[in-house]
Amino acid sequence: MKTAIVWFKTDLRLHDNETLIRAIENCEQIIPVYCFDEAHYKTTRFGFKKTGAIRTQFLLQSLKDLDENLRKIGSRLLLVKGNPAEELRKLVIEYKATKIYAKKEVAIEELTTQKEVEERVWPLNCSFEVFSTSTLYHAQNLPFSIKDIPDTFTNFRRKVEKESEIRNVFPTPKSIKSPAIKSLALPSLSELNLNDIKIDSRAACDFTGGESNAQKRLNYYFDESKLVSNYKETRNQLIGGDYSSKFSAWLALGCLSPRQIYHSLKLYEEKNGANDSTYWLVFELLWRDYFRFMMKKHKEKFFFKNGIKNNETKIVAHNQEVLVKWINGETGVDFVDANMKELKLTGFMSNRGRQNVASYLCNDLNLDWRYGAAYFEEQLIDYDVCSNWGNWAYIAGVGNDPRKDRYFNIEKQANQYDADKKYRLLWNT
Ligand SMILES: Cc1cc2nc3c(=O)[nH]c(=O)nc-3n(C[C@H](O)[C@H](O)[C@H](O)COP(=O)(O)OP(=O)(O)OC[C@H]3O[C@@H](n4cnc5c(N)ncnc54)[C@H](O)[C@@H]3O)c2cc1C
Repeated sequence: MKTAIVWFKTDLRLHDNETLIRAIENCEQIIPVYCFDEAHYKTTRFGFKKTGAIRTQFLLQSLKDLDENLRKIGSRLLLVKGNPAEELRKLVIEYKATKIYAKKEVAIEELTTQKEVEERVWPLNCSFEVFSTSTLYHAQNLPFSIKDIPDTFTNFRRKVEKESEIRNVFPTPKSIKSPAIKSLALPSLSELNLNDIKIDSRAACDFTGGESNAQKRLNYYFDESKLVSNYKETRNQLIGGDYSSKFSAWLALGCLSPRQIYHSLKLYEEKNGANDSTYWLVFELLWRDYFRFMMKKHKEKFFFKNGIKNNETKIVAHNQEVLVKWINGETGVDFVDANMKELKLTGFMSNRGRQNVASYLCNDLNLDWRYGAAYFEEQLIDYDVCSNWGNWAYIAGVGNDPRKDRYFNIEKQANQYDADKKYRLLWNT
């Protein structure tokens, strides 16, 4: 009997999941696996945890939901913990698996792990195949090769919109054949060396992980509330769940597919009409694609201090005290402080807030932008390696911004986007 392992990573869903579909098509038995990679719970060289408690809690919820959904169709999720190459090697031997199916990676650490797994199982006569499952446009449908993708977003977007198509979604499997798999025993936060957390009651949105909650959020934002029809006007606001889609956390762990968002939006537009706002949501999802393709193009350069263009920065000597004040929302600049407190207490911050606090760290404090990016990596509930490091590099002037001198005047921004100080009062009192 042909047995395959489906290695789930940041694609924790049954819907529109090519990896899973191809495994089911080609093999008689499937072992769905998630590995808690021990490297994800270490401290990085910038002094932050690679994964903080808030995102880990969201991950645990997502795994529970995935297991429940797998059980409905005859399978279940097998959890392992340690080094993925070693853990998957052991499973290949135990289940006599001849193939591993997984999501294709683009960032350097994730790619290294992927290669390690491939190399460890190859001598066991187990092959390895990866699928691109996280973007709106499939890399194979782009009108340029990855190395020729324009380094300016507008040039990328115009050509892609004109010359490419978005693929259809894959169907959700109706049944999966698996051998007996022991029931899910999720680790506690403390077993992952993290402290317990309680999300602040002022949180913008109820982010509960899992594909089922992602679908609920999608239904809410589109059909139930029709908020998407005003997205372009509201997206720069700062308070509450309704001003933007809040899809990011579910997208980051793959509980939601961007193509599903797109095709649901097309149905919504048929019923309710298309406008600038409905288009703008797709425009923003294109930014997400863009940073992923840029990561694929520029690889490890995205993590260099001088970035993909080797631009000089204004970075001064590291100052831990100033950095800690920024993290804790104690800079004395009320708009920055309010945003940093929201991030610390809830794991989320609006896009407007992220741009301002990042610009403040790079352009006012003149600190090394990578410390800011690494803190976001620990803290964000929606952390995504490409979107986070890509946006930070952009604001630090070493990434894809064609302008070298982008500067956010924090006072002006606060007056424009928080004229009545409601947001600052919410977090600074
Ligand atoms: C310094 C900095 C760091 C960031 N780090 C991350 C990150 O780790 N993970 C992440 O998902 N987003 C990141 N963003 C992008 C953006 O701030 C968030 O995607 C957005 O605020 C999430 O809220 P939402 O889902 O309601 O967004 P919406 O406004 O509803 O947008 C819809 C979707 O479009 C995508 N999107 C929107 N803006 C961007 C953008 N600038 N770059 C890439 N994708 C975008 C997201 O997937 C988002 O869910 C970062 C932005 C900055 C300036």
